[in-house]
Amino acid sequence: MKKFFYYGCTKEEYESCKKLRDAMNEKIVKAISTVSGILELILGLVSLVVPIAGKYGYLYIIYGTVLSLLAISIRTKRFHLNPTIQIYILMLVTYSLGITITVPSAEEKAITFIVMIVTMPFLFVDVSWRMEIFMIIISAIYCIIAFNVKNPEIAQEDMYNVICFAGGALVVQYMVNKNIVMGFVSRVKNEQLLIAYDKAQEELKIKACTDLMTGLYNRTYFTNEAIHFFENCQRLNDIGYLVMMDLDKFKKINDTFGHQVGDKVIINVAKIINENLKGEEYGARLGGDEYIFVLAERFHPETVKSAISNILEGVHSIQLKDNTFVSGSIGVISVSSGELIFDNMYRSADNALYKAKADGRNQIVFGKYKV
Ligand code: GH3
Ligand code: MG
Repeated sequence: MKKFFYYGCTKEEYESCKKLRDAMNEKIVKAISTVSGILELILGLVSLVVPIAGKYGYLYIIYGTVLSLLAISIRTKRFHLNPTIQIYILMLVTYSLGITITVPSAEEKAITFIVMIVTMPFLFVDVSWRMEIFMIIISAIYCIIAFNVKNPEIAQEDMYNVICFAGGALVVQYMVNKNIVMGFVSRVKNEQLLIAYDKAQEELKIKACTDLMTGLYNRTYFTNEAIHFFENCQRLNDIGYLVMMDLDKFKKINDTFGHQVGDKVIINVAKIINENLKGEEYGARLGGDEYIFVLAERFHPETVKSAISNILEGVHSIQLKDNTFVSGSIGVISVSSGELIFDNMYRSADNALYKAKADGRNQIVFGKYKV
């Protein structure tokens, strides 16, 4: 129901419009209550001394006090009243004062108040026309009462005043609404563009660091980031491991079973690696049939060695047609203390991998990190 009365049809549009309207109302209330509050107070005080407003001086003081309190509460943010509610209070105070001063008999005052209370709900219809309806109804009632209870000449003057006041208010209201609508439309458009832009940026960022075939990180990302993993391990007095794996005789798999089967193997190996990584560990595909990943002692109470063995066994359990099994060779280095230079770590792990290949493949070789 609420949604219907506000601009926009999605929740986001509604929220955005509501925020805009509240901000606008807050500005209006802040300006009106501050300026009018001070003026009414001055007028009230002066009229108590010099009776320019006759017996109504005390009403101006009450009105000025209410407005000033409203202004202070908005400025100091003491009461977190919704700005739109504040504008209702402002209207209510204004009309109450108007009725009290201009409607002479207690009976008519009561009737006018009741009419005002009855018409108040119109304020809750929506910002675009509730104020207008409220003003038209109140102004009409004001004129009718004025003609009935006052000298016709004064009533006529009052009517002109009311028409000028209501007309002015309607023009202001129209301009404010036009602004809200225009502002809202361009804002929604801008927001949509910004959301699309952010999404595209985010996708680009992800693409830039991901190996699209496997979903693992790519070489660039890994090369830039891996050092932080080891820095963190050193900070935590933990041992970090850099692991490189290359599939054995992968060219033959491609040649025998085709590239598509080869692709599936590459993807399945990535899955196996991922399944065995824990906590902050992560892996990357360096390219072709070559993978790299980081492990840390703290994530493997059952020892890192067994996690690496699981990966090797997992790879070796991938069966192709003709009873052919995939296998891989792994080179590992552990890094605990000492200077961290990624190029040297990479070279050391690569040397271990080379040894694993040279020693007959399908095995793990633990090398030393040579700084
Ligand atoms: P080795 O045991 O010495 O590693 O022998 P290998 O045949 O695996 O040799 P190498 O690692 O040098 O070759 C990797 C091959 O992987 C070369 C290339 O044809 C193949 N390859 C690289 N990228 C892809 C890919 O995206 N898909 C498929 N199916 N094959 C790829
Ligand atoms: Mg290979």
